Amino acid sequence: METAELSSPALLTPELLERYAGPCPRYTSYPSADRFVPMHARGGSSGAPPWAALQQAQTLSLYVHIPFCRSLCYFCACNKVVTKRYDSAASYLETVLREARWYRDCVVEAPVTQLHLGGGTPTFLNDGDLERLILGLGEVFPLQVGDDVEYSVEADPRTLAPHTLDNLRRLGFNRLSMGIQDFNPAVQRAVNRICPPEDVLALTEGARARGFRSISYDLIYGLPGQSVTSLEQTIDIVLEHAPDRIALYHYAHLPQRFKAQRLISSDLIPPPADKIAMQLAATRRLTGAGYHFLGMDHFARPDDGMAQAAAEGRLARNFQGYTLMPADALIGLGASAISYSRDGYWQNQHGVKDYTAAVGGCGNAISRGWKLSDDDRLRQWLIMELMCRLRVERGAVESRTGAPFEHYFHDELARLQPMVDDGLVALDEIGLHVSERGRWFLRNVAAAFDAHLHRSGSGGRYSRVL
Ligand code: SF4
Repeated sequence: METAELSSPALLTPELLERYAGPCPRYTSYPSADRFVPMHARGGSSGAPPWAALQQAQTLSLYVHIPFCRSLCYFCACNKVVTKRYDSAASYLETVLREARWYRDCVVEAPVTQLHLGGGTPTFLNDGDLERLILGLGEVFPLQVGDDVEYSVEADPRTLAPHTLDNLRRLGFNRLSMGIQDFNPAVQRAVNRICPPEDVLALTEGARARGFRSISYDLIYGLPGQSVTSLEQTIDIVLEHAPDRIALYHYAHLPQRFKAQRLISSDLIPPPADKIAMQLAATRRLTGAGYHFLGMDHFARPDDGMAQAAAEGRLARNFQGYTLMPADALIGLGASAISYSRDGYWQNQHGVKDYTAAVGGCGNAISRGWKLSDDDRLRQWLIMELMCRLRVERGAVESRTGAPFEHYFHDELARLQPMVDDGLVALDEIGLHVSERGRWFLRNVAAAFDAHLHRSGSGGRYSRVL
């Protein structure tokens, strides 16, 4: 599809927004995490727990949640602790490493090909503690090194010093993701996150010079005080910096759920029609500059591995968004971290206090999770296909179910019919295809296949699609 068509306002009408822009899961997991039920490693649940399948994993991904931040960004919906004191970070690291050692008893021998530090602000940690963390993880897990591994860190450019970049590279990190959100000074003030573009450019160039292979910027549209013009100006600056990847997220204003967002006046939030115009304008600018539009909210330069993977149908999705290297299993360490194996998901205690007490007591902080049924696995795979490849082939479904597509998914296809009528998806002899118009509503298309969502009828706890 041509860029002009892709970003045409004609693709999105007020009627479509009315019908589909409401709350919907993001499907970083299936079932979505709000479906998880109480689960403990002390026993009590029937059958083998999902972490027992870690033994069969051939490759492993690690995620470490570092929840500390120096100041509060008003749009934030992350699990974080805002503090000026550093000593809590040092004791938190001890707990993370203790939790890591608990997994040694799960006989995890698979090589770690992916490591991600998220938060909060992982670069809150000083160089010595970052090193202590990686060396400590290396004592438990077989961390791999080299070009075939993906070690990434979410960095706040306001707290990222050049010596930290040196340290990260020395420890094997090769990917850097920076939270930019918006470069407009008024918007930055409105969300309490002041970061001049010159600083970000210097860090981007510094990271490139040190050999970081992929530099990613996170942007947000729909922030207080943002307009189409201000977002276009931000995108123009971003294009001058030429990051390898860009994630463009929609700001979900949910002040009832996220206390920080109560510091934002609802009057400053752009109305839905303006947000659509922003999304379209940003897409037009980015694709016009040669970036490939991937999935529902990612862009990659044509020479980036992610653009190539998407073209070859190798894109995958995990809790950190789109990825090239999905591992068989993920171990999430730290407060609220989620893990998965082929048998299901498990999540740690959410609050730092509860997490620390749980690990102190029994070595792990598992509090809830989900064991996948065969039907869950099928839908998990199908939703991944939709999110990453924008299609599902009926032959692939039928070989998994042994039943005709229309038969197994009779109710789901009935649910999809309005989306077919609206030109969001099409069904032919090959399978189900998401159109360019439907790309904006991928979450809705996926939701048609969410058996848990339709069983309970819940829809109010999720962020809006647009
Ligand atoms: S947006 Fe990032 S840096 Fe800001 S408060 Fe949230 S987690 Fe911390």
